[in-house]
Amino acid sequence: MMAIAQDRKIPAPEPNPETQAFWDAAARGQLLFKRCTACGELHYYPRAICPFCFSDKTEWTPASGKGKIYSYSVLRRGAPVPYAIAYVTLAEGVTMLTNIVDCDLDKIRIGQDVRLVFKPTDGGPPVAMFAPV
Ligand SMILES: [Zn+2]
Repeated sequence: MMAIAQDRKIPAPEPNPETQAFWDAAARGQLLFKRCTACGELHYYPRAICPFCFSDKTEWTPASGKGKIYSYSVLRRGAPVPYAIAYVTLAEGVTMLTNIVDCDLDKIRIGQDVRLVFKPTDGGPPVAMFAPV
């Protein structure tokens, strides 16, 4: 049986002052992460305080949208439609928890090249997900 990922209903994210710029960018089709100008480390999800050195000197950085699947899991039970959650490592080196979409769920593999796609949410800004290249 094929297990093509279907679009599922995604609850609207709730932007706050720390993440407003992130969601504004998402609405424009751009994925942002944070770079710390004190220690140089990248992080995602975006936070006001660097999780590596606790500096507040962080800046928004646009992602190219290219990445690789680091690990994944296909959820088939307890969800209206099966879907894949994954850690994707972006070309820039930061890893994010996301979904793999627009593909056969049975053909997802670790190390696979993926590209950024935005999926609509239920009345909120779109969320960044990834599809096989
Ligand atoms: Zn830092």
